[in-house]
Amino acid sequence: MQNLAAFKALLELPKRIVITTHIKPDADALGSSLGLAGYLLKQGHQVCVITPTDYPKFLNWMEGNDDVLIFEGNEEKAEYLVENADLIFCLDFSSLKRIGNLGKLVADSDAEKVLIDHHLNPETFAKYVLWSTEAAATAELVYDLIEMMGDAEKLTKGMAEALYAGLMTDTGNFKLPCTTPHVHNIVASLMELGADVAKVSHKVYDDNSLDRMRLLGFVLNERLEIIEGSHVAYFYLTLADKERFKYQTGDAEGLVNYGLAVEDIHVSAIFIEYEDQVKISFRSFGDIPVNELARKYFNGGGHKNAAGGATTDSLEDTINLFRDLVLKQTKELNYEV
Ligand code: 5GP
Ligand code: MN
Repeated sequence: MQNLAAFKALLELPKRIVITTHIKPDADALGSSLGLAGYLLKQGHQVCVITPTDYPKFLNWMEGNDDVLIFEGNEEKAEYLVENADLIFCLDFSSLKRIGNLGKLVADSDAEKVLIDHHLNPETFAKYVLWSTEAAATAELVYDLIEMMGDAEKLTKGMAEALYAGLMTDTGNFKLPCTTPHVHNIVASLMELGADVAKVSHKVYDDNSLDRMRLLGFVLNERLEIIEGSHVAYFYLTLADKERFKYQTGDAEGLVNYGLAVEDIHVSAIFIEYEDQVKISFRSFGDIPVNELARKYFNGGGHKNAAGGATTDSLEDTINLFRDLVLKQTKELNYEV
């Protein structure tokens, strides 16, 4: 952060702070937000984490979870907090359109904005910016910021576990190329602060409903396609499939990764049908920039190896567009294996 001294000075007196993160928060979005919220509360500030939408049940164990305000359904309260905030932190997203209707409120608020993020092409709405695409997770940047403030040892076990959840998931359990020595050093510090890493892993990965496990089996059996002659796999999930398995927010999280686990598969996609849109997730291995594919054809974006988007076309049309792009060897998917 270039203006760190001014940022530190700003936080010397108690402030009214809102922390927000992207639609359908994942473990990094929520963990970095709650880790930071815990720290700022401890420093004597008034803090509220506002998420644009709900989030998966497997994230509801984090310290501070009960005080999270979900914008959808609590619009008036959120509007009041955003309008009256001195400071708004924007975590784990780089474009205000990633927070839906909350974006306009944030843009219109007189509060100073702080952006902490690791996605490409950040918008320039924030006065204070801690942004690096080299960072594995926003949780890494939050830890770095607190360390730069000289306060890393003030983090509690609960804050450390929230940040650890972000690092664990955004590095794909410390398997992706973004897993640097710095990430492991931070993890060591978080463990020294008391983070119970086995507990976090259990809560995030091993606390599934039976319906979710049955859905996984069904998807692997019935909804996995390999595009012939390519190194591309995709899954899909219809509205009827979701109803059959009592689909809950987050139930499809991670499914897309199973495509990459198949031999010779280097790109995986999942298409999930909603009433009003189709949500898509992409994953790739190596140098294949699925974020460019998402940006160019599916109104989305993300990281080189993990991206997403959405369309209002039908599920069938969306899948056909993807199949065409693969069969035509579009530039974004053209690679040597
Ligand atoms: P996921 O597939 O886990 O939902 O998202 C993977 C990554 O893709 C996220 O970290 C985010 O950067 C990006 N992403 C997912 N959906 C969208 C979207 O609709 N728009 C943009 N710009 N990025 C997305
Ligand atoms: Mn992230």
